[in-house]
Amino acid sequence: MSLAHGRPYLAIPGPSAMPDRVLRAMHRAAPNIYEGEIVTQTAGILTDLRRVALSSGHVAIYIANGHGAWEAAIANMFSRGDRALVMATGRFGIGWAEHARAMGIEVDLLDFGLNSPADPAQLEAALRADTGHKIKAVLVTHLDTATSIRNNIPAMRAAIDAAGHPALLAVDCIASLGCDEFRFDDWGVDVMVAASQKGLMVPPGLGFVWASDTALTRCKGADLATPYWNWHPRFFAEQHYMHFGGTAPTHHLFGLAESLKMILDEEGLPQVWARHATLARTVWAAFEAWGQGGDIALNVADPVFRGHSVTAARIGGGGASRLRAWCEAEAGVTLGIGLGMAAPGSAAADDFLRVAHMGHVNAHMTLGVLGVMEAGMQALGIPHGAGGIAAAAAAIAGR
Ligand SMILES: *Cc1c(COP(=O)(O)O)cnc(C)c1O
Repeated sequence: MSLAHGRPYLAIPGPSAMPDRVLRAMHRAAPNIYEGEIVTQTAGILTDLRRVALSSGHVAIYIANGHGAWEAAIANMFSRGDRALVMATGRFGIGWAEHARAMGIEVDLLDFGLNSPADPAQLEAALRADTGHKIKAVLVTHLDTATSIRNNIPAMRAAIDAAGHPALLAVDCIASLGCDEFRFDDWGVDVMVAASQKGLMVPPGLGFVWASDTALTRCKGADLATPYWNWHPRFFAEQHYMHFGGTAPTHHLFGLAESLKMILDEEGLPQVWARHATLARTVWAAFEAWGQGGDIALNVADPVFRGHSVTAARIGGGGASRLRAWCEAEAGVTLGIGLGMAAPGSAAADDFLRVAHMGHVNAHMTLGVLGVMEAGMQALGIPHGAGGIAAAAAAIAGR
């Protein structure tokens, strides 16, 4: 007998849990793509995408996932042979650097490992050393989904300014937008990327790139942008299809309009951030209690540098893989695999997992996941400290 029958919960960091309302908004006949509703709706969506990023700049929608958004940003920022400085704090920072290299960019990689945030002092030193101002942009991941490290973006801007360097600041917010506080304008960000299937609660399929006026000016003439990826026609579309380089992603747009309404006009962005912060603290509280009596630890020691939409953790002795299998088969909860934490296929790779608390997620879902995990640890005989669920409940009760 399995207790998995019932509504499943995919608690991985993307695709995130989607509101039925968003899916229902997509379940309809295709609209006229030349005029009418879809045209006005696109204008509203572009406005709301600026609102959700707190950006007064430009935004482009691509039919792509996050990897596509990475390439879109790179293609528009650089010419072949340009130099980028990438600050990596996990698999996703490394991935963005690999894409840039593969596209012909000279990449200086500052790798901070798997447990520490990007250090603004090292960024400032690297930029000061670049006396010829060869580095065109600094690329950094706001929340690295693999390690759950959250970087301090205002500190990166301050470091660039302190060095007196003209490099653009480009940020990957794929795992954090619509979950964790992010302020494009106030934080001095020049380019930002996101995707539909994480905090924005829409199926995978849309990638987004925001750009400041500064970025637009400095990147003029960047020669990597092919017609499809070029952001210029998308930012300044004279006809509706130009926003999308072809047929609009009609049904994704319907879903996105609904999710942006829920985030911006119903719950409100500050409340969305506060909900994710509380649910994150709930997850951390359980892990901290479990860690008192077992080989269990959160990946990031300092809560200031922990992301609010996903938590990476270690359960030693292969416990993480065994627990993930149990939670899925016996309780209908799918947890995230460890990513880039150990060599794939090695024994150590079985020690890492991730719990997502991203998007359309509330207290009962998060407490449910944690309760299932504790039950699984009991069933599997994984040593763990007592009181994990009590600590989680206290985090909800005392918020
Ligand atoms: C998910 C994610 C990506 C990759 O997005 P895909 O849609 O899987 O291509 C890149 N960066 C971060 C921070 C992510 O969370």
